[in-house]
Parts: sequence; C-alpha cells; structure tokens
Amino acid sequence: MKTISKIVILFIMIILSDNGCKNAPSSEPASKDDFNYFVEQFEDIRILKYNLPAFESLTPGQKEYIYYLSEAALAGRDILWDQNFRYNLLIRKTLEAIIESYSGDRKSEEYKAFLVYAKRVFFANGIHHHYSSDKFNPGFSKEYLVSLLNGSDLSKLPGDLGQRVDKFALFLTQILFNDDLYAKKVEQREGTDMVAGSASNFYELVTQKEVEEFYASKADPKDPRPVSLGLNSKVIKVNGKVTEDVYKSDGRYGSAIDTIVKWLGKAASVAETEMQKKEIALLIEYYTTGDLRKWDEYNVAWAGNTGSMVDYINGFIENYEDPLGMKATWEAIVNYTDLEASKRTAIITSNAQWFEDNSPIQPQYRKEKVTGVAAKVINIAMLGGDCYPASPLGINLPNADWIRKEVGSKSVTLANISNAYDKASQGNGFLEEFAFNAEEVARVKEFRTISDALHTDLHECVGHASGKLADGTDPNALKNYASPLEEARADLFALYYMTDNKMKDLGLFPDMKAGEVAYDDYLRNGLLTQIVRIKPGKDIEQAHMRCRSMISHWAYEKGKAENVIEMVTRDGKTYVKINDYQKLRTLFGQLLKEIQRIKSEGDFEAGKKLIEDYGVKIDQKLHAEVLDRYAKLNLAPYTGFINPILVPVYNTDGKITDVTVEYTDDYLGQMMYYGKNYSFLPVKN
Ligand code: ZN
Repeated sequence: MKTISKIVILFIMIILSDNGCKNAPSSEPASKDDFNYFVEQFEDIRILKYNLPAFESLTPGQKEYIYYLSEAALAGRDILWDQNFRYNLLIRKTLEAIIESYSGDRKSEEYKAFLVYAKRVFFANGIHHHYSSDKFNPGFSKEYLVSLLNGSDLSKLPGDLGQRVDKFALFLTQILFNDDLYAKKVEQREGTDMVAGSASNFYELVTQKEVEEFYASKADPKDPRPVSLGLNSKVIKVNGKVTEDVYKSDGRYGSAIDTIVKWLGKAASVAETEMQKKEIALLIEYYTTGDLRKWDEYNVAWAGNTGSMVDYINGFIENYEDPLGMKATWEAIVNYTDLEASKRTAIITSNAQWFEDNSPIQPQYRKEKVTGVAAKVINIAMLGGDCYPASPLGINLPNADWIRKEVGSKSVTLANISNAYDKASQGNGFLEEFAFNAEEVARVKEFRTISDALHTDLHECVGHASGKLADGTDPNALKNYASPLEEARADLFALYYMTDNKMKDLGLFPDMKAGEVAYDDYLRNGLLTQIVRIKPGKDIEQAHMRCRSMISHWAYEKGKAENVIEMVTRDGKTYVKINDYQKLRTLFGQLLKEIQRIKSEGDFEAGKKLIEDYGVKIDQKLHAEVLDRYAKLNLAPYTGFINPILVPVYNTDGKITDVTVEYTDDYLGQMMYYGKNYSFLPVKN
C-alpha cells in the first residue's frame, strides 16, 4: 500500500511541515541548492521535478543496474493507460498526432484549451481525473475537435481511422463530450452495479454478480497463504462463459510485459547480490506465466531483501482503481538508499537509550532497554506506471496479509520527492500568508528542511519505540483514541528533544534555531493552517490531525497564564506567536508525561477527554477566515513529477561504463517522448 494516502499527497503542499508517520523529508544535497523544482501549473495540477542526490557517488555497477530497472519501469506505461479505460491508448495516440502535426493556428485560445486538456489527460494516464475519477470536461467545442482532426496527420493511427476522419470524429466526440458515457472511472456507490458503472477496463460484458460468483467459486477460505485472487487479469466472457484474460507473456499485455522482462533480465545480470538475482528471476517467471503463487514467492524474496543499496517496485500492485478491490494497476519505481539521511537516523538510533533515560515521563514507564527503529530513507531514480507523474511519498509493501505477517514488509520514505514538495512550496505564498512576521519566514526557510527531517527521525526512530506498558495493561485499552494518542506521544517525544542541547552535541543541528522552527511550524499548523483541509462545519477526524490539534490547543491553553503562545490578530487576520520556547518545551514535556501515563495504564477516559477537548472541534469563525485566506493563494491541490533522464555512457565494446543524469523542464515534451519510445501495446480501433 502507499502509506501516504492520495489525500495526504493532495495536501502535503499545503501543510508544509505536515510529516505524517511515513513522510521523512530529505537531507539536502549540498551542491543542488539552486535546483529548480517548480515547472508549471495548469488547472488543478502542479508539475515539479525531483533531483537525484548523490547519484554520482554510486558505483558504475549500481548505476547500470538502476538504468536497466528504469527502462523496465517505463516499459509498462501503456498497460496502465489501457487498464484505466479501453479507449485511452487510442485517444492518447490521437492527442499525440495532433500535437505533433496540427497545421492550423497554434496561438488561438481554443488550441491553448486543447493543450491544457491534453496535459490533464497525460497527467491522469487517461481521460478520467486521477483522484476524483470523473471524466474531464474538454474545455473546447466538438466542432473544434473536428477541425483539429482535419488539420492533423492521422496516418499513424491504427486501421484506416486516418482516412475516415468524419466517422472517427463522431466516435471520439461521443466518448469525450457525452456526459452519460463513461462518466466515472471507478463507481463505488452502494446499490449500483459497480462493474457496469465503472469505465476502468478490468471487466467486459459481465455483471458485478457474475464476477463475484466467479471468484467465490475460486477462493479457498482454508488456505492460510491465499493468493491475491484476480490481481492480474481482466474478466471477460467467452462463448457465454465467464473467464479470465491473464496479464502475461503470451496473454493480455504480452508485448509490453515481454519488454519489461527483457529489461529485468539485463538488470538481473548486473544485480548487486545473488539474492537480488534470484528475486528478479522469480519476478520474470511470474510475468511470463501469470502464476499468482510465483508472485507471492517473489514478494517473499523481495520483502526479505532489505540490505541492498538499489531497490525497485515493478508489477500489478495496488487495487484502488478496481471498484471490487481485486484487480491491480501496473506501477513501478526505482530507488537507491539516501546515505546522508541514513547517517542521521543511525546517530539517533544509536543514542536511543539516552533519549529514553532522559525523557520527562515517569521512570516506571521507561524502557530499560530500548532499540531504535531504523527507518529506511530512499531517493527515487525513476517513476513509472501508476506512480507517474503523481508519486506517493511513502510505500509499504507487499500487500498480501499472510506475507506481511510471516515475513514482514518494507516501509520506505521517498526523500527526494518530499524534498521537492517542500522546496517548491517555498515562495508559493503560503508561509508568507500565515507566518507571524518576515523574521519567522526567513528563519523557517533557512532551517525547515533539517528541522522537518529531525522531527521525523525522532518521531519514527525513537518516539514510537519508547516507553512501556504497566503490567497487566490491555494494549487495546485506548480503542479509537489509541491512534491519535500514539501519534501525539511520538510527536511530543520529538518536540521535547528538538530544543535539547543534546541535538547540538550529537552534531545534528547547525543551530538551535532549527529546533525553534520546529515549534513555529508545529503550532502554526496545529492552531491555524491544517484546517484548510476541512470543509466548513465539519470536525477533525484524521488521527494525525487530531494529534496536532490536541497538542497545539492544549499547549496554548496551559501556557495562557504566562502568555507562552499568543494568538495575534492583525488587520482581521490571525497569527500564532511563540513568546517563550523553553516554557513551551516544558509544557510539551508535561503532556508527554501524561500521555505516556495514559498509554501505560490504559486510561481510556483521560485519553478520550484530551482528544475530545482539544483535538476535534474547530472554531468556526477562525475556520472561515483561514479558508478564505487560503483560497486567495490560488494553489493547485494536486502535484506530479517529471522524471529525470538517465543517459548511459558506452565504451567502444558497447558496454555501459557510466550513467549520467539530465533534467528537463518540458512536461509535455517528456509525455510525447514516452509516447514515442515506450509504447509497446498495439492499439485496436
Ligand atoms: Zn507516527
């Protein structure tokens, strides 16, 4: 699963310092401070690019390995397009042909509207919105579409479509403009036939009932290690009989799968370890046969391989786009370990006992022996399939429950992607709008990257790992309040140490101001800005948000007598001002002590009261003000990324000796390039 939900991705740009559990920002590459992360914005989309920190310091072998895996990550692009909707590939080829050859006026408003539409379709890997799943409104007229088709060279389209423009135009206008046709990619309303109502291409000529009966007959409820039934196939009817068209070499999507397999084979030949070679061989066997037992066998091998510098994801993995939650879309990423960030987490982890022994909780609830958890921080080298261009921020796989239980899972945070979000959001006006003054803006800009990273490290590596239960306490005693309280415990542990001299002694801080920035960001978010996610009149429900609201409002109220935190109103706008950082730290320590007690003793009532009193309700007047200020910033809620270009360097024998990285700002250009060079499925008309 993608551990950062699409909702969080959607808002991560808004809540700049919103580090959920699995969202570690990156260490900053020293020489790349002037990297230009922002590329362009259209409709509700913002396009960024990410960089590859310390890629040069990988060995030539590792780079070659990454290169082959990256080609495999791009090779399956067409599969996703076809899975999203049966006519997506034909429509994409048509858009590409128009962009390439249209001979009419390219400066007109209608052509500009067409280009925006095309960019949105490229972003969504199809004609439905990647998040809402609604079919796009083209933004230009049917008549204009016809004139675009007439003014373009359509000779490369399949069959004789190029010669029958009138007929083709009629067909295309029906699909793009008829609101009743293919309106939603994924229909999940109860009481409807979700299979018939979804435009996604996992089922054909079958009803939801037929599909459910088909898989019910195949399931073996007694199998302790069940396969992921239906994961890699389309359900169709042959001679009136319901059957599966399996994704495999000589089956559905075979020509794209064979190309993926070709590159995986090259990757295996230069893999870092024997273990990886065996693992890739299993993946190839699965792709070749479509055998879901092989897929599980591969995943067991992949999950067990945690030590390597280079890693990847490649397969039919997430089932969000199937209304019945079985069929997986194709996705891929290639990544390498962020050594700088991993050094940082190693320092914190190796001092875990010191943090535990000095924590402000009651001594009887401290752990005598605490081992920190090393969270793996990675950098993405290539995004593909359903991870491109909209990327997750954290990934936790494999998905099969029995493998997670027996072997475990790999959990990673995507450092360079998070960093691009952070950096691109600087200067979008959000911080300037909500920070108390210019001095705070400057301080946050200077120290936020390191401050965010350390907060996340402390939260993940020692915060969650600290403390213990009293003898006999039911670990499930806190029930529905367990999750926000546990997040609060980890957050407070981090906040408490953020302004401790130990951080400087360990060489983790360039300046103690970095710790103060953590407080600025946390309270501004908890008291003010995080509620831009919430619709007027609604309560806070999400666990991380409840945690932040609770900590911030509790600290505000408890510090009121000494004016520790001030809510300042200026020109009708509310700001948060911290007057005393050390007193605030003491308050964080007190709350940590209380929440540890609540957890250790299983004090449900006290935990419930904290969350309900401070974490749930929103001041309606303040909410309206914040929403209004946010709306005026006109920020795009969805973000996606342009990939870097990996260029192999060959010697005279044709062997790869190095791989260099190039970056491009041309979003449309990359889409056209991929359309030309990574299209491996035939298009039927
Ligand atoms: Zn957490």
